Amino acid sequence: MAKSFHIITYGCQQNVADSEYIARLLTAGAFTESLEAETADIVLLNTCSVREKPENKVYQKLGYLRSIKRRRPGMIIGVCGCQAQREGEDMRARMPGIDVLVGTAQIERLPDLVTQALETGEPVTALDLPTKRADLEEYDDFPAVRKLVPGAQSQLREFVPIMFGCDKFCSFCVVPYTRGRERSRNLPDIVAEVTALVEGGTKEVTLLGQTVDSWKSPKSAGLLNIADRRGAEMLKFPDLLRAVDAVSGLQRLRFTSPHPKDCTPELIAAMRDLPTVCEWIHMPVQSGSNEVLERMRRGYTRERFLEIIAQLRQAVPDIAITTDVMVGFPGETEQQYEETLSLFEQVQFDGAYMFIYSPRPGTKAFDAGDEVPKEIKSSRLQRLVAIQNRISRERNEALLGQVFEVLVESAGDRPGQLTGLSRQNKTVHFDGPESLIGQIVNVRVHEAAMWGHIGTMEDR
Ligand code: SF4
Repeated sequence: MAKSFHIITYGCQQNVADSEYIARLLTAGAFTESLEAETADIVLLNTCSVREKPENKVYQKLGYLRSIKRRRPGMIIGVCGCQAQREGEDMRARMPGIDVLVGTAQIERLPDLVTQALETGEPVTALDLPTKRADLEEYDDFPAVRKLVPGAQSQLREFVPIMFGCDKFCSFCVVPYTRGRERSRNLPDIVAEVTALVEGGTKEVTLLGQTVDSWKSPKSAGLLNIADRRGAEMLKFPDLLRAVDAVSGLQRLRFTSPHPKDCTPELIAAMRDLPTVCEWIHMPVQSGSNEVLERMRRGYTRERFLEIIAQLRQAVPDIAITTDVMVGFPGETEQQYEETLSLFEQVQFDGAYMFIYSPRPGTKAFDAGDEVPKEIKSSRLQRLVAIQNRISRERNEALLGQVFEVLVESAGDRPGQLTGLSRQNKTVHFDGPESLIGQIVNVRVHEAAMWGHIGTMEDR
């Protein structure tokens, strides 16, 4: 009988996309997906290292899985993702019983590695990662079409990873160490994947990357290694947007997350001109203080960030803008924190992911010391959240009476209600028959909340 697997995912959208991909690989490799960790033959934890909290949760979960494994000794426990990459064999030392330990650049091998662990009963490890530019000379890890595993079904909305790793080395971030140096998939592969997804029923595609707008690829296909690429003419992210926009039948195109440094006038013009590109951007700012931005090594100033926001709003007047921000970065003074508050008031983001700085071993900021006390960090976060919640609600209230195009995703919480996403990436609830799920309808909104709107469907 086919062995069953269950995947538990922590962290970012990239991890969610990786987990979907792993599930497809394992299914194609004759494993079956199980809804329950308690009864699955193989349980995989796809981990995140961006903050300390999810890392601790993984250890709690591993302890629980070990208690199951004591009753079912044949069970396989696997750990993949950023924490597996960052901690490596230390994870096994701290939590014996991990059968399969796989780094971020090795997930293609999971079916083979799991099979090996099942057959031999011995622990297996695969952690190779291109952390140096020079390593990329030999590096070619891009499956031709990641989503096109036989038997896989297209969802209404799909995430398509277009690049892996990051070259920015922000001082607080582990990603360049856990996902390696930046590598972009080539344009024909991405377009082929999107085309196949759309043919399978996908209406909306989100291109994914740690700094998605720094995607680049040689104009002539086949230049896989860095040496060949030197001096080659390169395609940039707006070129990719144009190519994906041209995929016949695609209704909506999004991308996340861009980095302000790579947000060029060409990208803004592409957002303005391409019909499928949605009126939404998630642009992480991290801080409103130039001193803090410099210590974070973000590569832009508050003034430059504000200039980008103004250019975006001028080019795409109905754009929704969301962001990531952290408070309590080492050495952040009250004055510097207030500058973040004033930036939020000035920009009027539609929404924000707001975090307390979490020290990550191995990063520059970790060694800097000068930690802001915990209570101060918490109170700073609370004040910022209160401000942003008010702004989100006010911005949604200002849109009352307008009509939004909604991709209907599912039934709502109460009978007769449907729910979907506007092009501005806001949730919209309205009444309608379930036969509309999967379709795009117009909804006039009459009630605002922090998260989005309630409305009434316009005549079709
Ligand atoms: S841009 Fe900075 S925060 Fe984003 S993944 Fe790269 S290093 Fe991390």
